[in-house]
Amino acid sequence: MNAQQHAYLEHYGDRVSFDPTERRLYGHDIAAIPALIAPLIGDTTPDAVVQPENERELADLARWATHERIALTPRGKATSGYGGVLPINHGIVVDFHHMRRVLAVDPQAMTVTVEPGITWERLDMQLREHELTLRLYPTSYPSSTVGGWLAQGGAGIGSYEFGYFRENVVAVRLVVPDGLICELTGDEVDLVSDAEGITGMISAVTLRVQPLAHVSVAALAAPTAKAFTALVQLLIAAKLPIWSMIFISPKMAELKSVAPLREHNGHAVEHRIELPHAYILTLAFRSADAAALYTALPGLAASTHTEILGNQIAQHEWDTRFKLMTIKRLGPSLVPAEVIVPIDGLAGALDDLERQVSQRLVQEGVIVRNGVGGKPEAVILGFIPADQRTFNYNFVFGLALTIMKIAEAHGGRPYATGIYFAQKADAVLGLARAAKLRAYKAQVDPANIMNPGKVFGGGLVGAALTAASAIEPIVQRFGNAAPVQVGERIPDKPVRDIPGDVAWYAYACSQCGYCVDECDQFYGRGWESQSPRGKWFWLREHMEGRAEWDQRMVDTFLACTTCELCNLRCSANLPIEPSWMKLRGQLVQEQQQMTFPPFEMMGAALAAEGNIWAGYRKDRDAWFPEDLKQKHGSEHKASAVYFAGCTASYVEHDIGIASVRLLDAAGVDFTYLGQKENCCATPMLVAGRWDLFVDTMKQNIAAVKEAGADTVICSCPACDMMWRHVYPTWATKLGIDYDITARHYTEIVAEKIGTGEFQFPPNNLAPITVTWHDSCHIGRASGVYEPPRDLIKAIPNVNFVEMPFNRECAHCCGSVLTLIHEPEVAADIGKSRIDEAIEVGAEQMLALCPCCEFQLRVSAEKQHLPIEIVDLAHFAAERLGFTLPDPHPEVRAQWAVFEAMIKLMTPEGFAALMGTMWPEIIDAMPLGMGAMMRAMGKVPGALEAMKPIFPVLFPRLLPLMMPKIMPTMLERVAAMIAMPDNMVKQMPDLMPKVVDRLMPHMIGDVVPLVTQPMIDYLHHAARA
Ligand SMILES: Cc1cc2nc3c(=O)[nH]c(=O)nc-3n(C[C@H](O)[C@H](O)[C@H](O)COP(=O)(O)OP(=O)(O)OC[C@H]3O[C@@H](n4cnc5c(N)ncnc54)[C@H](O)[C@@H]3O)c2cc1C
Ligand code: SF4
Ligand code: SF4
Repeated sequence: MNAQQHAYLEHYGDRVSFDPTERRLYGHDIAAIPALIAPLIGDTTPDAVVQPENERELADLARWATHERIALTPRGKATSGYGGVLPINHGIVVDFHHMRRVLAVDPQAMTVTVEPGITWERLDMQLREHELTLRLYPTSYPSSTVGGWLAQGGAGIGSYEFGYFRENVVAVRLVVPDGLICELTGDEVDLVSDAEGITGMISAVTLRVQPLAHVSVAALAAPTAKAFTALVQLLIAAKLPIWSMIFISPKMAELKSVAPLREHNGHAVEHRIELPHAYILTLAFRSADAAALYTALPGLAASTHTEILGNQIAQHEWDTRFKLMTIKRLGPSLVPAEVIVPIDGLAGALDDLERQVSQRLVQEGVIVRNGVGGKPEAVILGFIPADQRTFNYNFVFGLALTIMKIAEAHGGRPYATGIYFAQKADAVLGLARAAKLRAYKAQVDPANIMNPGKVFGGGLVGAALTAASAIEPIVQRFGNAAPVQVGERIPDKPVRDIPGDVAWYAYACSQCGYCVDECDQFYGRGWESQSPRGKWFWLREHMEGRAEWDQRMVDTFLACTTCELCNLRCSANLPIEPSWMKLRGQLVQEQQQMTFPPFEMMGAALAAEGNIWAGYRKDRDAWFPEDLKQKHGSEHKASAVYFAGCTASYVEHDIGIASVRLLDAAGVDFTYLGQKENCCATPMLVAGRWDLFVDTMKQNIAAVKEAGADTVICSCPACDMMWRHVYPTWATKLGIDYDITARHYTEIVAEKIGTGEFQFPPNNLAPITVTWHDSCHIGRASGVYEPPRDLIKAIPNVNFVEMPFNRECAHCCGSVLTLIHEPEVAADIGKSRIDEAIEVGAEQMLALCPCCEFQLRVSAEKQHLPIEIVDLAHFAAERLGFTLPDPHPEVRAQWAVFEAMIKLMTPEGFAALMGTMWPEIIDAMPLGMGAMMRAMGKVPGALEAMKPIFPVLFPRLLPLMMPKIMPTMLERVAAMIAMPDNMVKQMPDLMPKVVDRLMPHMIGDVVPLVTQPMIDYLHHAARA
């Protein structure tokens, strides 16, 4: 792409990326391409990635790209594996991330019109608001897009009743290369379905939907392929009202039964369901039809020698229908092969697969009652666990050809074309449709701009696979003979600098994308590198030597808010957030990379005074209500300690006051550590400053023990998470005696409410509608979901409403790490959470995390959102008749300081600061260099000639100059930032430590920013 073309695309602003790392992440799909095939495909890094916002932008882009002869590769969520999204001619990847609106719902016609980038899950959620639901969807429902499935073609859940997706599409809007928009209906949909974007870009799809109905399930086990096929045939013949029919093979059942379970803090959080090693058929049907099914099934099972499985298995198979990638953990790669076989040939095909493929081939599939020609078909997705890092992977990959041949021998065909099976386009599409598509492609895209090399491609890889097909018996022998281990094998050594477990997970990630859209780090920014999926892929690149750490990538791993939503969504049950946590320590502690600069200020303040807000230790307990000191103050002995945390102690005092008032009113006996309390050190853990984390943790544990307590009651969720999960884990690791129980105040108060020991009095306050924000750390991290709700519901005159994303699925507020790193992004993330509250009609959003409250208040103010963020304890204590301080003025003041500090601690900020102190900097230069520079300022061109040596010189000079310039620096910082007195007083201690830690990392970026201003100053001074 030339400079002009590049410049043209710049008008997309932050919706275009030319960044090499980002582009690399948009150059692949889910398939792990074998080393022998990769060179045939070549480099698939696009020149740019563009994210159009609407159809008009798509049309402009198509017109321009056609004129410039630049290839366009449409991309939904890249969950396909046929190479359809690979930009094999480079050019532009068109990402539909911003085109995901529901355009119209028509309940009468039972249709919905959507933009192509909407995921099935989000669409279904929106349909449910209209009492509608999807007719069918792929099992990649949590991530894949409507446009992607139409362009890729396929069957999925619901296809038993509703066939292939194409048959459920009423109309499509297609942007063709000359920028025109075509409305396709009826048979014309063939011009875009299964076409993988070679004829244009889908800008809208109208699809049929169905009334929302409760679904029931049943599962049957068949010992053999023959019995299984007979069962399916009988079910079809019986014309039972079944909506969906999915199945897994015996080997799949076996592997699913050993695949890792979802974990939390190292413990499994789901039950292992033992599956029989049989073909397991799972039926889904409307509950209204259940009687018909339950009446017919026993007879059908008996006549086919199959067994009706218990409801637990049926429900498990249904509930985990999106989680098929757990078995990938055992590979850590999978060789895929997908075929369609008519039901008549199914038993033979399954038996042949069993006989001819001796590797661990596992299968899952769906039954389509009315397939091509109205005949029933099975779509079989086969996987063979293998390791893409070994050469044997190439051989095992060859078995995909065997699977294809077997399917063909039984009347079947490949599932799709992509770049691999272009030679089989006629078989995949059918002769007539293929001819129609070829003609349309020639008509609308003579320059072959749209997704070149796909469907009819004819590239090297297709030719190579055709050639390999000819010698398939030999390929099969090699594939079957290749030694392959199956099972999770975590290396005991790091791979490059990546810890062994994280390295394994990076390859075990299926790239399914379930973790992408719901990750707040991603949706705040919208780029793949900011998602778990992108990070895993980058780690692979790094481990294979194609990518190196730089500050941007370090920041990317640090910017995760630790919300843990990804752990829940992952189709492979990967411990994603814990892996990023491990890398924080690896990067910052071990490799001495730079953490987010504000953390260094917090760290210095913590080391000095035990808190991150640069307050004095002596002021830590100033908030504690005078009248409760005797009963609950630090002199009082109790087995439980109330742990306030830094933010309640120094900023949002109302939280601490209200929490102890509430606990007291509920009759809870507790004491308080007072000035012996320290920060819980969560900020240091997430910053990767594990040295400070450990020191602080030890002090806190010792303080609780000294107080003679064995229970810690927290109000702050991060503190709670530390005492509940993190401290015990680290204490075990470090051999520290722990034995402390953590409880959240809402758990205790809710219990008292439950037993009738405590109740809220009636109040005269006006009725109010509130909602509840589950903070990530009290929710997903600590599992406290119901107690806050119980508490709210126990307060008279309160109408409680839930937000759409609640409990385990609740969205993050975007706090701390985003707020510290990119405040603007934090405000956007905060807005999307607040919008949910406004949408459900809440007047107040209750929360209990000081950081969430801080972040949501700042977001609401920045974005002018009509909602009040209120602390739960504050809200409850007010209803007990207490008057509490208004936290807003302090939040605003502290945020102003914080924001200014964030800006200061950037290369630009430091450069601006230096710009205010050139005389002092020049005078501080050692060895008479300052005088020399001043003299050179008088000689035209002399300083300019020195420019190349400044990057070498400055890093050496700065440490020597720092003690001399520090007093001026402190003065200037105090003049620039309206800090509170306590902070101004502490700055002489804090600032040198912060600069010492940051400058070695930042100086390289600061020097280019200060060189010219310094030269200008010296010239100016010389003239004066
Ligand atoms: C866990 C898992 C389960 C799956 N289950 C199923 C299943 O049940 N059934 C099934 O059929 N497949 C399944 N797949 C494969 C895949 O998810 C589907 O093919 C899916 O429809 C692809 O959607 P996508 O948004 O990811 O599209 P992408 O992979 O991004 O794109 C697919 C093709 O469509 C083109 N395209 C995308 N958007 C547009 C557009 N707006 N205009 C024109 N062309 C476009 C792309 O260029 C590409 O050629 C599964 C995959 C995974 C990882
Ligand atoms: S923990 Fe949250 S922010 Fe971090 S990667 Fe997971 S989903 Fe994204
Ligand atoms: S991390 Fe999990 S959810 Fe995300 S792409 Fe990988 S396997 Fe899928």
